[in-house]
Parts: sequence; structure tokens; C-alpha cells
Amino acid sequence: VTVAFARPETLEQAFEALHGDEDAHMLAGGVSIVLLMGSGLMAPTTLVSLARVAGMDGIETSGEVLDIGARSTHHTIATDRAVAARIPAAAELFSLIGNVRVRMAGTVGGNLAHADPAQDPVVLLSVLGAQAVVAGPTAERLVAVEDLADGPLSPTLEHDEIITRVRVPWPSDGEVSSYVKFLSGTYDDYATVSVGCRLVRDSSGEVTDASLAAGAVGPTVVMLEQPAQLVGTRAEPDVLDELERAVTDSVSPNPDRRGSADYKRAMTGVVAARAVRKALASDQLAAASR
Ligand SMILES: Cc1cc2nc3c(=O)[nH]c(=O)nc-3n(C[C@H](O)[C@H](O)[C@H](O)COP(=O)(O)OP(=O)(O)OC[C@H]3O[C@@H](n4cnc5c(N)ncnc54)[C@H](O)[C@@H]3O)c2cc1C
Repeated sequence: VTVAFARPETLEQAFEALHGDEDAHMLAGGVSIVLLMGSGLMAPTTLVSLARVAGMDGIETSGEVLDIGARSTHHTIATDRAVAARIPAAAELFSLIGNVRVRMAGTVGGNLAHADPAQDPVVLLSVLGAQAVVAGPTAERLVAVEDLADGPLSPTLEHDEIITRVRVPWPSDGEVSSYVKFLSGTYDDYATVSVGCRLVRDSSGEVTDASLAAGAVGPTVVMLEQPAQLVGTRAEPDVLDELERAVTDSVSPNPDRRGSADYKRAMTGVVAARAVRKALASDQLAAASR
């Protein structure tokens, strides 16, 4: 079997290479697609490399939003100074993905498009309100990152739509966030359960807005509804105990090789409460260093 290789330099050339051939696929870092090809799950006729396509690189930190080129590797994002200073939870998340080889090659666009429900980025980016800029042959649209997949390895993108950038709102006043990746095996594994957390507090310390999402416990990222319980509280220990119970009751994960359904369910509650505590502690750390 021969696989053709296209190396477009513009989006238009990329659309042309993808046009009319459902078996032509994009190649970003190659980290996941090459494994799928090796295992026979994917048999592209053409690989359309995104390596040279203009407009998909760079991390722009001077504007209204954090604007990340889809071709940015996990390593590049993890080590960006502005990201680390202003959204430390995001820098930490990207530094926790897989191992150094995966982080040096894997891209944020490829990660979101691959749509493995145990992946990390969407779990935090969704609670931060991130949107993917999706370019198609006739139009560009913005898609909330949690809407990029409707099942495992099942992106909602059209065959010839390309994620070009990921836009993340900068935190507002009083906003803190955290990411907790719970690993039951080796440190470089995919998450057993993970939770992204975003909290906004007023000057008195009362929570005015809260979002939590969980990874590896459903066919796609699970946006949790229980954070509403945090609003109007100071996330005191009894509130967090109640949150833990409610989150545990709300999820129905499938068992996988990292844990039984019951184990993952119980850990989702534990990790959610941990993520809230971590977000609050990050604020205290920042205050101490000011
Ligand atoms: C050993 C190992 C461990 C890993 N551990 C983790 C982990 O702990 N956490 C985690 O989150 N991930 C993990 N990953 C996945 C990793 O993050 C990959 O980087 C990511 O899934 C794919 O990125 P890529 O750039 O290599 O995409 P590719 O493999 O090149 O492409 C993946 C898919 O996305 C499509 N695609 C690529 N770019 C775009 C785009 N811009 N627009 C539209 N479609 C596009 C491709 O056509 C293909 O279908 C791991 C992978 C491996 C092999």
C-alpha cells in the first residue's frame, strides 16, 4: 500500500489536498495517527502534513485572549512564560502529558482532534471557556473545545476542517484554576480520572462562579453540574465533602484497564474536591509571592 504525502503551505492548498478523498487525513505531530495506522485502524491514502501551513503556529500572549497556534507542541505551551505566569494550571497540564517524546511532537490541535476521552487538555481548556478556531474550505467557525468530540476518537469536525488556533480567555479578577491528573499506574500514563477546575471569588472570598469538568470517565469530557453548589460559599470543608458525594453520584464511567467503574466513580469525587482545594491554594501561593 502506498500512502501519498502532501505538504501544503497554505490552508487553501491543504483543503485542496483533502478535497474529495475521505481517506486523506491530516498529519500534525504524528503521535497518535501513526499508532492508528500501525494498528490498522486507519489506512489513509494521503497524509496531508500541517507542518508548513501558515497561520497555525506561535503563542500570542499580548492580546485579549491567549491565542495558541494549533501546531504548538505540548512542550512549547508548557514552557511558555506568559502561560505559566497567567494560567499556571495550563502550563502544568501540558507538562504532565505522556512523556517527553510525546510532549515534543504532539500538538494541541492534534490532541483536540484526536478526541481520546482520557486526554488532558480539553478537561481544563473547557472550564476556562476555550474555543477552537476551525477553518473550512468555505468558512471559519469557533467551536467550544468540549464540542469538538461526540464520542471516543470521534471528532465533530468535518473531514476537511482544520483547527488552526485555540483561544483561551485570560483569567478575570478573582479567578483561579487548577488541573488534577490522577494516575493509578505509571507517572507517564493517561489519566485514570482527571478534573479541571475554574473558580471566581469576590473580594470577601465568596465563590461567585465555578466550573468543573472530568476526563477519562465518559465517552467525551464530562462537564459537571455540581459546582453550582459552591457558589455563595467559601468552599469550606463541609461544602467540599458534599461536592465530593454529589460528583461521585453523578458520573457513570466505563471500567478500563486503569480502574473499575466504581473505583473511577469514587475517585472522580475525590479528585474534584482536590481540584477545588488546589485552585484555592494556588491563589494563596500567588498572594504570598506578590
Ligand atoms: C505513549 C503516548 C502517551 C500519551 N499520553 C498522553 C497523555 O497523558 N495525555 C494526553 O492528553 N495525550 C496523550 N497522548 C496523545 C498525545 O497528546 C498526542 O499528541 C495527540 O493525541 C495527537 O497530537 P498530534 O499532533 O501528534 O496529532 P496526529 O497524531 O498527527 O493527529 C491526530 C489526529 O488529529 C487530526 N489532526 C491533527 N491536527 C489537526 C488539526 N489541526 N485540525 C484537525 N485535525 C487534526 C489528524 O488527522 C489525526 O486524525 C499520548 C500519546 C502517546 C503515543
